[in-house]
Amino acid sequence: MARQFFVGGNFKMNGTKESVAKIVEGLNKADIPSNVEVVIAPPAPYIALAVNENKQKNVEVSAQNCFDKASGAYTGEISPEQIKDLGATWTLTGHSERRTIIKESDDFIASKTKFALDQGLSVILCIGETLEERKANVTLDVCARQLDAVARVVSDWSKIVVAYEPVWAIGTGLAATPEDAQETHKAIREHLSKSIGADAAEKIRILYGGSVNGKNAPEFKDKADVDGFLVGGASLKPEFVDIIKSRL
Ligand code: PEP
Repeated sequence: MARQFFVGGNFKMNGTKESVAKIVEGLNKADIPSNVEVVIAPPAPYIALAVNENKQKNVEVSAQNCFDKASGAYTGEISPEQIKDLGATWTLTGHSERRTIIKESDDFIASKTKFALDQGLSVILCIGETLEERKANVTLDVCARQLDAVARVVSDWSKIVVAYEPVWAIGTGLAATPEDAQETHKAIREHLSKSIGADAAEKIRILYGGSVNGKNAPEFKDKADVDGFLVGGASLKPEFVDIIKSRL
């Protein structure tokens, strides 16, 4: 079945009002194919700016993270309601930088994912193994564990996009090979087929993330289970548009 090509841009903790506006302006001017879904995730202070500057129909705005409560005494956190109030429609959950640096657990990420979905946001759920885990040959066990935590609390996966991002490939310039990515994506889909059902697993988009750039993106073109990309560093540069157009 045809799954719509999806490209996410995670700006991480980068940018200023000026630079974020410039990126959105670049996207406004770009000839983005109508069959590509693009989601950009600027830092939280610039969500409203990105929403307001965006003129492209198939570009949406995402938060990079959210909390699993609506409001209250949670200093420094941001709720799905607030994300929606700013005009964003997506949030990332489970990015490896939050799993490893902020020490977010599988269960906390699952709880946030569920809460964000319940509040009407769509979610890019990030999973992936560290280099040590890859060397120990437990890539699939790790991905399965991270997915199962979400599957225990979420039954409807229609508003989730899974981003497989091996931690060793993020920001390192060492992208997984298209063959490696395809093999893992296929295994992830097979696992999802057992946990959330064959139909949902067939429909869900599985993105690859980790050092994707304008040059290597087209190499993933014929990989059946690679339904798009989550892009970090290159989403801040003009080559982001090349990645968006890499399936043409
Ligand atoms: C990311 O942060 O999600 C990511 C994939 O980063 P990069 O593209 O810079 O490796």
